[in-house]
Amino acid sequence: MWQISRSLLLTVLALGAMHASAAARQTQPPARSPWGRAGEEAVEIYTLTNVHGVEARIATYGATLVSLKAPDRDGHLASIVLGFDTLEPYLTGVPYYGAIVGRYGNRIAKARFTLDGKTYQLAANNGPNSLHGGLRGFDKRVWKAEMLPASKGNGVRLTYVSAAGEEGYPGELTAHVVYRLDDQDNLEIDYQATTTAPTTLNLTNHSYFNLTGDPRVPVLDHVLTIHADRFTPVDATLIPIGELRPVAGTPFDFTTPHTVGARIGAADEQLRLGGGYDHNWVINRTGPGLTLAAVVTDPKSGRSLEVRTTQPGVQFYSGNFMDGKPAGKGSVYSHRTGLCLETQHFPDSPNQPAFPSTILRPGQVFAQKTVFAMRIAK
Ligand code: BGC
Repeated sequence: MWQISRSLLLTVLALGAMHASAAARQTQPPARSPWGRAGEEAVEIYTLTNVHGVEARIATYGATLVSLKAPDRDGHLASIVLGFDTLEPYLTGVPYYGAIVGRYGNRIAKARFTLDGKTYQLAANNGPNSLHGGLRGFDKRVWKAEMLPASKGNGVRLTYVSAAGEEGYPGELTAHVVYRLDDQDNLEIDYQATTTAPTTLNLTNHSYFNLTGDPRVPVLDHVLTIHADRFTPVDATLIPIGELRPVAGTPFDFTTPHTVGARIGAADEQLRLGGGYDHNWVINRTGPGLTLAAVVTDPKSGRSLEVRTTQPGVQFYSGNFMDGKPAGKGSVYSHRTGLCLETQHFPDSPNQPAFPSTILRPGQVFAQKTVFAMRIAK
């Protein structure tokens, strides 16, 4: 009798303890706090957490994903994106760490495009080309932010109104970006935009992933799959030459898992032009909607990231231009210590009518979504 009631008591106690710890780890409401100033403007940082302790921090400067803590196979949390603890390094012109890039992410050839018969000149900030929105793109603007009502999930909604003519682009563009974290460890990024005049746009998040949890470790041992049978080869200034080239038989074939480093040094014209991988892959899709574009895994920690998107392309950039500068508070990011998977429309689409269109007209709503799903590798 005592035996039975004792085990019953232990079970009740154990259940109670489980319940208490689950309650203690309930999803926290998003927290916001001041994060310094960019010139005259106050910057804030928002923190989203979930039941597993996954934590995303988003700054209103550049709508930047500053850190994203995910567990390894032993439950240890570490940030899987490169970033800085303070605002200061972001103000000194870092290469788009975690930022939302726009109005046009990636390159536009010769910094110029023609729309409805009119030619628009942009700043050439990358050799002869325009890169990531120009001299002061969306990554260098302070966005307005508000927490999402709980009924819409655990998230923050950021808004930026880009004036007509800003950085040379026509039309006043209103862009909304929502970061939402759920209890299944998915960080969703939702993009919406409208315009007052015909314009072109390409919005993406420019996070540099390093799943080891140690930003000093190069990403060459990360195992990558990209669900794409074709990519867009480039010229010497990294502008697509217009071809959708099959990846089969080339170092660009990630349809089956390969480490980033396995073929990065191969004698290949495209790898030479990019100084490594810095290309757009054409995601295999059977229809519209979210589709799995890429999976990247760090076999050592067990951290794995699935990238799902509604976009037609993904730029896989292997951090080739990372040079150890600038040094944020104790953070120096060296060659190939981060990799980007920028879900996007194809580079130079405004000049390449055969590519999916990036034109937005008044009355239309631009809507795209990307999900970073944090998983543990089996
Ligand atoms: C580009 C790279 C560039 C990097 C940082 C990537 O999206 O493809 O060429 O160096 O952004 O600017």
